Amino acid sequence: MLVENDAPLAPLTTLRLGGPARRLVTAHTDDEVIAAVREADAAGEPLLVLGGGSNLVIGDAGFSGTALRIATEGFALDGTALEVAAGETWSEVVRRTVLDHHLAGIEFLAGIPGSAGATPVQNVGAYGQEVAQAITEVVAYDRTADEVVVLPNAECAFSYRHSRFKAEPDRYVVLRVRFRLEDAEGLSTPVRYAETARHLGVEQGDRVAVDTAWKAVLLLRAGKGMVLDPADHDTWSAGSFFTNPVLTAAQYESFRTRPGAEDAPAYPAPEGCTKTSAAWLIDRAGFGKGYGSGPATLSTKHTLALTNRGSATAEDLLALAREIRDGVREAFGVELVNEPVMVGVTL
Ligand SMILES: Cc1cc2nc3c(=O)[nH]c(=O)nc-3n(C[C@H](O)[C@H](O)[C@H](O)COP(=O)(O)OP(=O)(O)OC[C@H]3O[C@@H](n4cnc5c(N)ncnc54)[C@H](O)[C@@H]3O)c2cc1C
Repeated sequence: MLVENDAPLAPLTTLRLGGPARRLVTAHTDDEVIAAVREADAAGEPLLVLGGGSNLVIGDAGFSGTALRIATEGFALDGTALEVAAGETWSEVVRRTVLDHHLAGIEFLAGIPGSAGATPVQNVGAYGQEVAQAITEVVAYDRTADEVVVLPNAECAFSYRHSRFKAEPDRYVVLRVRFRLEDAEGLSTPVRYAETARHLGVEQGDRVAVDTAWKAVLLLRAGKGMVLDPADHDTWSAGSFFTNPVLTAAQYESFRTRPGAEDAPAYPAPEGCTKTSAAWLIDRAGFGKGYGSGPATLSTKHTLALTNRGSATAEDLLALAREIRDGVREAFGVELVNEPVMVGVTL
């Protein structure tokens, strides 16, 4: 276990901004993770669990507590049952299941940055797939009960970019994630997303070779600056900064009366709600690709990514986020909600 004091956190995040941690602990085994959490909890010390830092906005004042960096390793495949340690790099886990083992189930989640352990936290999803569809169990350290628990999928309360782990952020530290993949003789799961189907030249619902699906996703993501590339400032982001708004029937009706809203994308969501597109709202509210003149701007490839052009502070980024949130509210009466986790700051 490595312990550093007054350690910069910015280099450990994909936005590359924010202040230092009073203490940074790097844990390489589950026992080290649990020991570090117990120590912080016993001392009444605030704890920040850190994976790949790809969904975090750390305030400029930093974090006055213990940041625990999870660096555990483990990839165990038994038939189609996969168990991975929280510290494994997610995009590498996907690559191995697809290219080395020709298994389906997480192939459309290629190229998403960060750790495997963080994927259940916001039920990571893209191109019509979510980890909730493949996760069987999550092994976590429960800080309240002070014990390791095994939560079956049904107890993880997965929904769109949400879960029990996100709802109770100070309770669970994910140690391992178990998946059930699919052996479809080298084929993918059905292509669900219209854009991917178009790109692949197939109908929605068709299957393609699993490695073809994986490559297609990486290509589509790279075109939007959604695959990490240190040389490309469009990828110095936290991915999508806002979640797609899910509107109740009454909210949707009121939204549709706004000028221009009749063209808005609309997808059915649970409980009679309608999901619309945050990227569409941002663009139509006047914030196009590349918007902004300071050190924080929208990505030149995607309106949903707020990016650091090299010297941005957290306040620069948040000022841009607030301007966009307020502009969308004014134009469409819809309140955008941030997807990344805020540390020591609010929108
Ligand atoms: C370019 C880019 C593209 C992206 N594309 C997508 C996308 O397509 N779909 C999508 O869903 N997301 C996307 N994201 C967001 C991000 O990659 C995911 O949310 C990812 O799962 C975060 O993983 P991480 O390890 O970096 O988490 P971190 O940023 O380190 O942490 C995020 C949150 O999870 C908590 N956490 C991390 N590890 C654990 C653990 N082991 N136990 C408990 N809590 C933990 C942290 O405390 C924090 O609250 C993108 C981000 C970037 C930068």
